Amino acid sequence: MSVEKVKCLIIGSGPAGYTAAIYAARANMAPVLYQGQQPGGQLTTTNEVENFPGYVDGVTGPEMMVQLMKQAQRFDTDVRDGWVTKVDFSGDVHKAWINGEKEIHAESIIISTGASAKYLGLPSEQKYLKMGGGVSACAVCDGFFYRGQEVVIVGAGDSACEEAHYLSKLCKKVTMLVRRDEFRASKIMAARVKKTENIEILFNTETVEVLGDDVGVTGARVKNNVTGEEHDISATGFFVAIGHKPNTDIFKEYLKLDETGYIINTPGTSKTNVPGVFVSGDAADHVYRQAITAAGTGCMAALDAERYLASKDELPQDEPGVGSTYVDEVPAARQ
Ligand code: NDP
Repeated sequence: MSVEKVKCLIIGSGPAGYTAAIYAARANMAPVLYQGQQPGGQLTTTNEVENFPGYVDGVTGPEMMVQLMKQAQRFDTDVRDGWVTKVDFSGDVHKAWINGEKEIHAESIIISTGASAKYLGLPSEQKYLKMGGGVSACAVCDGFFYRGQEVVIVGAGDSACEEAHYLSKLCKKVTMLVRRDEFRASKIMAARVKKTENIEILFNTETVEVLGDDVGVTGARVKNNVTGEEHDISATGFFVAIGHKPNTDIFKEYLKLDETGYIINTPGTSKTNVPGVFVSGDAADHVYRQAITAAGTGCMAALDAERYLASKDELPQDEPGVGSTYVDEVPAARQ
């Protein structure tokens, strides 16, 4: 198996990964970025992005990701196809295996593997998701396109309540589908939803099918799982808020994760519990989950990695265990 030595390995190609790449490349860290199984990340499933500063007229998710990639390449980031299948963070040199074939030895690693929204898995749901035709897992990203319209949201956790409430301020009506006879959400979040006039909550209700035409979603067929009765709800948007799964499984042997799998970083930094391994974006963020916050933490990770590498370089060449002598300072802002 071939072994390649790199200064900075970036894993993942969403806004976090590409922003880390732009900063790392401009700091002469010669970053190598592996795009992963979904090049461009979650934004490639978003139609229009209108809340990323700088795009006055908005931009499609896929277009924005191509631009971010080109910007990273402009500064000589080595952007590659492939995904990391295994890592070993037990030594001073961090190892990663690409597609189970190539082995990379990296002085620093920036993890930007993101999180994946969970979906119901219905063929009709996936069809309109891929079409960009009315299925979304992010109300903050896409709610604006449904203003004045009727939408459905699935889920009963804090996210579903927060997103239903967000949508209620934009949409004519929000129908919330809760599969059990109670919410999972905290009492205060559930109470807020219950008292919002234009949110109708259907308990014990599951989605049978997302309905639509050639253009997009027109509604949902739902079933009461107690009575077995089915009926159709008219809606132009179908929002899914049943949780996210951070893409962190391959790191769990070495990195501290919370109970749902998000990487735990030192607050206010991108540092993980392993010196030289940094995290950015949704892999460590279950709260904000926005492109702009992911990009911000990508910048932080590159600056933290740069400082880490600089502190290693300042040590005598024959110093043993250089990886564990990281000087813990906040890097100066890069102009
Ligand atoms: P949760 O795992 O808390 O909730 C997921 C919800 O989706 C549950 O109600 C679950 O139903 C439902 N669900 C799962 N699968 C299906 C399915 N196939 N069909 C229908 N419904 C389904 O995820 P959240 O994203 O809501 O929250 C994650 C974490 O983030 C939580 O700890 C939460 O408290 C926190 N959070 C906090 C916020 C805040 O404080 N402002 C805002 C958002 C999140 P069931 O209950 O039947 O299992």
